[in-house]
Amino acid sequence: MSADFPKKRVAIFGSTGSIGTQALDVIRSNKELFEVEILTAHTNDELLINQAIEFKPNAVVIVDEAKYEKVKAALSSTDIKVFAGELALEEVADFDTYDIMIAAIVGFAGLKPTLKAVEKGRIIALANKETLVVAGDIVMQKAIEHKSPIIPVDSEHSAIFQCLIGEARNPIERIILTASGGPFLGKKPNFLVNVKRDHALQHPNWSMGAKISIDSATLMNKGLEMIEAKWLFNLNCNQIEVVIHPQSIIHSMVQFEDGSIKAQMGLPDMKLPIQYALGFPQRIKNDFPRFSFKKYPSLNFEEPDYKTFRNLGLAIDALQSGGNKACILNAANEIAVWAFLKNRIGFLDITAVVEKTMDAIAFIQKPTLQEYFDTDGEARNFAASLINI
Ligand code: NAD
Ligand code: MG
Repeated sequence: MSADFPKKRVAIFGSTGSIGTQALDVIRSNKELFEVEILTAHTNDELLINQAIEFKPNAVVIVDEAKYEKVKAALSSTDIKVFAGELALEEVADFDTYDIMIAAIVGFAGLKPTLKAVEKGRIIALANKETLVVAGDIVMQKAIEHKSPIIPVDSEHSAIFQCLIGEARNPIERIILTASGGPFLGKKPNFLVNVKRDHALQHPNWSMGAKISIDSATLMNKGLEMIEAKWLFNLNCNQIEVVIHPQSIIHSMVQFEDGSIKAQMGLPDMKLPIQYALGFPQRIKNDFPRFSFKKYPSLNFEEPDYKTFRNLGLAIDALQSGGNKACILNAANEIAVWAFLKNRIGFLDITAVVEKTMDAIAFIQKPTLQEYFDTDGEARNFAASLINI
């Protein structure tokens, strides 16, 4: 990518997380292409301050209001604007001064600011898959209305997006989402029942935030990704297949109507899809390690173990039902994962909480945005009541 283009002004929502910090690594290596306009963090004031001093954005948001004075004082000798609180996320998302939002907040909390950026017609580099899981129909509809391009950052969806370049006239027959299988591939319920937090956080191929690491261990992550793919690529449930591929070299595949399959491959490194989304439609030269077939003489594929990893089945149920089912699934999962991370419930209880919540909360076929918010709140309360929190 040449530096002849005007610099893209980047807003990173969730800049202190795994995706956010890797996005800043990409920007640090490509200062002639990008400048940072907005940074936001939930509670990590120290890191946000350091990032602001290094990248000199126009504005930062610290959601935790108790940290506002500290951030303000630390940046007092700069002209960086400092905001605090949840509402400030939407206020800065409404700014006219950025071109691309990296949506890297984790969970439902990412939905409102991302929607605001969509309504502004910004480019969205979407890592926050929960946004589409919760309200994919509304988000995609608004993206069309406001001409807001949504470029996936999730590695599987980035792979599919890349396979689709040049194929606008060719319908997709099916997509094949690859899954590493997570740290408990091949394990059975008698093992999983005793799994502890620290073990579940150890992913074999990727280093990620806590929530998505647990989702990867339970395979809920792949279920959320099926729903994300439905909305991004306008697919029905039968067109989305999951295959376990433990090496995470093929990031996903698309099969066309002639049976031909395209795959996107590379070493597992989130910086690549982040950089692709930031640079799109240009590819940016880098010196990341290259994949070598000689070092991987075999790539393996197998069917997921649906009986053991029941979250995948629950997500397929949500995908088939439509309406607010995926919103319920997501809310219950966020509560259950949070409780597991706090050692309040066991690993297999995560699935039980999600299943019971999906059975309990009223189904709405065509929810409004407000009904999605209400569903999220109800499902969270119900899930929390199941685990006494
Ligand atoms: P993380 O936990 O490392 O970081 C989350 C970021 O969001 C932090 O900056 C945090 O300050 C902010 N945040 C958390 N709660 C918030 C709240 N209530 N309000 C506002 N900000 C809040 O998470 P991550 O691993 O970087 O994942 C971010 C998103 O990207 C998730 O949706 C995840 O599914 C998706 N994703 C991550 C990876 C990965 O490799 N980490 C890969 C694909 C997709
Ligand atoms: Mg992924």
